[in-house]
Amino acid sequence: MNLRHLFLTCQAQTSPSPFCVEISRAEGVYMYGPDGKRYIDLIAGVSVSNAGHCHPDVVKAVNEQVSKYMHLMVYGEFIQSPQALYAGKLVSLLPESLNNVYFVNSGSEANEGAMKLAKRYTGRQEIIGFRNSYHGGTHGVLSLTSDEHYRNAFRPLLPDVRLSDFNDFDGLSLISERTACVMVEPMQGEAGAITPAEGFLQSLRERCSRTGALLIFDEAQTGFGRLGKLFAFEKYGVVPDILTAAKSMGGGMPLGAFISSKKIMDSLKTGPALGHITTFGGHPVSCAAGLAALNVILSENLISSVENKAALFRKLLQDADIEEIRGDGLLIAVELGSPERLTKFIRLAYENGIATDWFLFSNSSFRIAPPLIISSSQIEEACEILKKVLIMTGR
Ligand code: PMP
Repeated sequence: MNLRHLFLTCQAQTSPSPFCVEISRAEGVYMYGPDGKRYIDLIAGVSVSNAGHCHPDVVKAVNEQVSKYMHLMVYGEFIQSPQALYAGKLVSLLPESLNNVYFVNSGSEANEGAMKLAKRYTGRQEIIGFRNSYHGGTHGVLSLTSDEHYRNAFRPLLPDVRLSDFNDFDGLSLISERTACVMVEPMQGEAGAITPAEGFLQSLRERCSRTGALLIFDEAQTGFGRLGKLFAFEKYGVVPDILTAAKSMGGGMPLGAFISSKKIMDSLKTGPALGHITTFGGHPVSCAAGLAALNVILSENLISSVENKAALFRKLLQDADIEEIRGDGLLIAVELGSPERLTKFIRLAYENGIATDWFLFSNSSFRIAPPLIISSSQIEEACEILKKVLIMTGR
């Protein structure tokens, strides 16, 4: 059976130039092709595989749950231990004001749910987002995507959406008593790893508190240890009213959540009841996998290792032929200066055994966001290869 043929003809692709690298298994920080070719994974499925690929604890949790039950029903009928235990674990690690977890399937759905929750709770309509942020592919969150090229083709989108610039303090005056919520990535991922300016998130928090707008942190990419704290909000010292999580939350299985206080969350219970529902949200196998992965992240002290690993990447790449290194923790963008060089670089990186990727809204930098389990020697090996490929693609 020619998989490549099926992939290109029967399986819909939305990329005009899919890479077509076949992977037959993955373990730890490595992915392997059918011929045994090994790739060091510097993408982690876009910040998903924080505990590494196929960690034995996660595989065991999945197998055990699969043999008990898979889908049952999620509208409150049945107590399912993986969901309850995972919600309890998360709440035990979060501040008191984030004590209620609603499980969904993905980052997009988590953000859709968060926006609906904010509208219900505040009774307001306006939503404010930031240019160059990415919150998902569904219509609601697409309305917050500033890239005209992406969203123009899909109008009409949500009305009453306004955009400001990330790190623009003056732009915060857009937030008013009309605003239901402000959605922000505490550190912008797909914009090319853009960190918040000193005091920006604090000012945003103050403005939201003053106007009664709910502050939503989209931590789909920054969550579960990637920036050296369980969530980025801890690192930046600002607690949102609603936290959204996804990607690494399922330990490699599909899972997301919006998390808030019980008081805010209860507004989805009435007028109408079942204010958000989702057939597969919080799938028991995903929750079992996610809880196991979180336990790995905690018990293997992966979070506290992030800063040293990030520093090692930066040190080893500092004298390479690059323009700039951006980002925070293990969400790093390496700026190459031109899209042409980047395209050449990524192709050659794969040929040389490194999986890296573009950012959606930055066409001249590549991504370093490996599983958090990556070791010092694996970082050294990866950087050797990256430097070799950088020389090959010279400016
Ligand atoms: N928010 C952020 C910050 C993301 O990076 C992404 C995905 N790249 C999403 C939301 C969307 O998540 P999903 O693809 O699971 O819907």
